[in-house]
Amino acid sequence: MHCCQATIISVFLAWLLPTSAFADNSLTLDPTYFKPADVITRDVAIIGGGSSGIYSAISLKDKGKSIIVVEKKGRIGGHTETYIDSTTGTPIDIGVQTWQNISLVRNYFARLNIPVIKFGSDADPNSPAQLSANYDLRSGKEVNVTAPSAQQVYTAFAAYAEQLKKYPRLNDGMFLPNPVPEDLYMPFGDFVKKYKIEDALVTMFNYNPGLGDVLTVPTVEQMRAFGQNLVEQLSTGFLTTRHHNNSELYTNAEKELLSSSSLLLNSEVIQAERNDGNAKSESGRIKLLVRTPNGTKLIRAKKLLITIPPRLDFLAPFSLSQKEKTVFGKLIDAGYYTSIVKNTGIPDNLSITNMLQSSPYNLPVLPGVYSIGTTQVKGLHIAFYGTPRSSKTFPLSDEDVKADIIASIKRLQRANPDKFNQTEPEFVVYSSHAPFYLQARPEDTKDGFYRELYALQGGRNTYWTGAGFRSQDSSNVWRFSEDVVLPELVKGL
Ligand SMILES: Cc1cc2nc3c(=O)[nH]c(=O)nc-3n(C[C@H](O)[C@H](O)[C@H](O)COP(=O)(O)OP(=O)(O)OC[C@H]3O[C@@H](n4cnc5c(N)ncnc54)[C@H](O)[C@@H]3O)c2cc1C
Repeated sequence: MHCCQATIISVFLAWLLPTSAFADNSLTLDPTYFKPADVITRDVAIIGGGSSGIYSAISLKDKGKSIIVVEKKGRIGGHTETYIDSTTGTPIDIGVQTWQNISLVRNYFARLNIPVIKFGSDADPNSPAQLSANYDLRSGKEVNVTAPSAQQVYTAFAAYAEQLKKYPRLNDGMFLPNPVPEDLYMPFGDFVKKYKIEDALVTMFNYNPGLGDVLTVPTVEQMRAFGQNLVEQLSTGFLTTRHHNNSELYTNAEKELLSSSSLLLNSEVIQAERNDGNAKSESGRIKLLVRTPNGTKLIRAKKLLITIPPRLDFLAPFSLSQKEKTVFGKLIDAGYYTSIVKNTGIPDNLSITNMLQSSPYNLPVLPGVYSIGTTQVKGLHIAFYGTPRSSKTFPLSDEDVKADIIASIKRLQRANPDKFNQTEPEFVVYSSHAPFYLQARPEDTKDGFYRELYALQGGRNTYWTGAGFRSQDSSNVWRFSEDVVLPELVKGL
């Protein structure tokens, strides 16, 4: 904008003010343009009401800090989604399934009054045996896989755990040695051969869908997804909610945050001012213009915590610095999608894994279906779909993903009329989790990308957490928020 244009607009606004004070606050972060009720003053503003945003909100609240969470959807919980079957009332978790069995997780669930159990500990022994089979969903043909024995998988994980021990700080975040060792940015497929951990590969792939093409992903990204603590959980077991409704955590958190005026739903930041300097002074104050269902509000906060995926398009309203743009501009991601499908023609107790007869480790080609699993409800299966890594925020359109899921099921039916009913599959629910698994390219990892990313913490009174900064694992994200980010954030509040 030319300076004279800006002057004309501010003169025009000043002229409007006496007669229509508070009427037009769409262009300004100046509190005098707002009714007092539309100015929200807090210690910390949190952007994103998903896993990391809500954990941080509750933690900061318990530390005696005032907060406001801005969530763009009409619900909190992010990737935690639960479908309630309309006929039986049975909940089916279609997003987050389990958490690590560690004290921080147990304490958080106790804090929000949600009982947890060991995952699988209440399985009904009378329910029909769960079966699984491997099919190539591009042709529909069955794939014969020679799986490694339990002992071979165990030995491979032990060899992998030995390698993880070389990088103990990776268990806390993306704290890579400097210079970055070649082992960490080499393709994971090469690392697997180098350290003879082939027999663990398929287990890792199945535990962490959404990471992209596992054989070419830099090794450190696999270690980020499958770190020391996750290897330990394989033997100790994971936690889930007793009622098998993981969204309950967020129902309780939402009640608490709404009743303390600490949450804005269906709301988005449209403009921001973020300055360095003393967070307690007016000049250091974070100012956010937020569009809410009840009109535009101005948030004034000492510190800002951003938890949404740090893609440049999502962060556009936050007046990014050149440095922030350069760092975040390097991120790539993968697409990850879930859905519940009826009329699949697949027996209720059968799970299908997509595999390829001729590929290394029988891994499927992406984009494609990962698996079509069983659910607690008769007639419903859950399908997981993923894409390789790409620089696009949304690697595939939802229409393309849905069409490919249906086409895969139809190919399965047509190639095996003796095993699967010839029915017309239909989506009961579909959910896109793209952009998923934000990560760096190998060359950027080698050049110190994660050092640069973490160096952004605290700049312009802004802090960052969430999967983009840690990993796609709620327990890890909570521990990172609690141990690494929040201690620095609360200083000087
Ligand atoms: C299908 C699936 C299964 C998973 N299973 C597990 C599991 O079993 N165990 C596990 O530990 N982890 C699991 N994960 C990973 C886990 O969900 C993530 O690690 C965790 O959700 C990351 O938290 P987050 O806060 O970064 O992101 P999210 O939880 O996605 O939260 C981000 C929030 O920000 C909001 N938002 C986005 N843009 C804006 C904006 N501009 N303004 C305001 N709000 C915005 C979103 O609506 C969302 O609520 C799974 C993920 C998926 C997709």
